[in-house]
Amino acid sequence: MPVTAAAADVRGTNPYRPDVDVLRGQDPEIADVLAGEARRQADSLQLIAAENFVSPAVLAALGSPLANKYAEGYPGARYHGGCEIVDAAERIAVQRATALFGADHANVQSHSGSSAVLAAYAALLRPGDTVLAMGLAYGGHLTHGSPANFSGRWFDFVPYGVDAETGLIDYEQVRVLAHEHRPKAIVCGSISYPRHIDYAQFREIADEVGACLIADAAHPIGLVAGGAAPNPVPYADVVCATTHKVLRGPRGGMLLCGAELAERIDRAVFPFTQGGAQMHTIAAKAVAFGEAATEAFTAYTHQVVANARALADALAEQGFAITTGGTDTHLITADPGPLGVEGRAARARLMAAGIVLDTCALPYGDERGIRFGTAAVTTQGMGRPEMERIAELFTAALRAEPEKAPRVRARVRELAERFPPYRG
Ligand SMILES: *Cc1c(COP(=O)(O)O)cnc(C)c1O
Repeated sequence: MPVTAAAADVRGTNPYRPDVDVLRGQDPEIADVLAGEARRQADSLQLIAAENFVSPAVLAALGSPLANKYAEGYPGARYHGGCEIVDAAERIAVQRATALFGADHANVQSHSGSSAVLAAYAALLRPGDTVLAMGLAYGGHLTHGSPANFSGRWFDFVPYGVDAETGLIDYEQVRVLAHEHRPKAIVCGSISYPRHIDYAQFREIADEVGACLIADAAHPIGLVAGGAAPNPVPYADVVCATTHKVLRGPRGGMLLCGAELAERIDRAVFPFTQGGAQMHTIAAKAVAFGEAATEAFTAYTHQVVANARALADALAEQGFAITTGGTDTHLITADPGPLGVEGRAARARLMAAGIVLDTCALPYGDERGIRFGTAAVTTQGMGRPEMERIAELFTAALRAEPEKAPRVRARVRELAERFPPYRG
């Protein structure tokens, strides 16, 4: 459908007035995509561990005129004019982030979690350096040495794993590998590790071999903000994070470090790996940090963990093999094998029922497991009874005869629609 000529004249109406549906008037084709996605998010269960629902205030900052502003550099030292007002947004975001996490310095410009990791490597390493990180087959992120990613191409990664039986990080193995390979940096952090990471142990091992410690806390950083997970800031030289997972801010990244590395980290972000900062996103990060400092957010993060534990327990009762026997966080990984389904097939059947999640590696064997989290459903207001209901729906979806699948889908829709992520 073509863009309408009348609506293309944006000078006529203020496009930032939320009460005017400017987009539908101008571009119904894309307006339909937005409406369709809003419907999908509201009538199915969002269990992807890295997803959440941001507040209307965060959305307002994202959709603001700050999106128009070019702002290369840092507050007070920009390469563009007219930055005085957006500078305030970045100063507030930095001040809130350092207060929230107890860090000397925060860089809030990273466009994504991956960009934050890239900047940390750029600040601390040279191409060809040896880095010890969790292997991708065990839950390491692409930026932890995947051959398909800059990290695997430019650095020499040595992987550590998890114990095949317990699913837990084997700190003795990490120590042995560190002494054997003398890495320049050790990375701790994972896309699927459901337990707290022992940052003090990692610090000790890094000190023994003279390595820097990079904590990639993309997943747990929101729990850290709410006091529901240990804070890596006192232990790591640099903490990399995302702002869009449990932390419930806009899509983006962030770096935290001590005063001595502040300038190197800032230069590694801009101008080394990025151009102009996204000031609308930075304003939205500031809004999310403000929310994360509230008692309501503290309560939220503890509910996220309580819900994950309740869901893991209920699924274990249904016969799922829960990796590590449970969780300390928002994240659960499980082997649906005992129910007679492999991870990929399980994801497809759950998806057909409206339960959206990922597959993941398991600590043992070649088959895949499923990975999911409770950040989004907890934002929707779900609690223990709903976690028990979700566990029943998992089993129903995996066990259903194909002709009964629509019935399971209807039950999932009924549950999701009782907890709308946005009102009105
Ligand atoms: C999510 C995640 C990232 C990357 O975040 P993006 O914003 O997708 O680039 C990096 N590391 C870990 C451990 C993650 O979980």
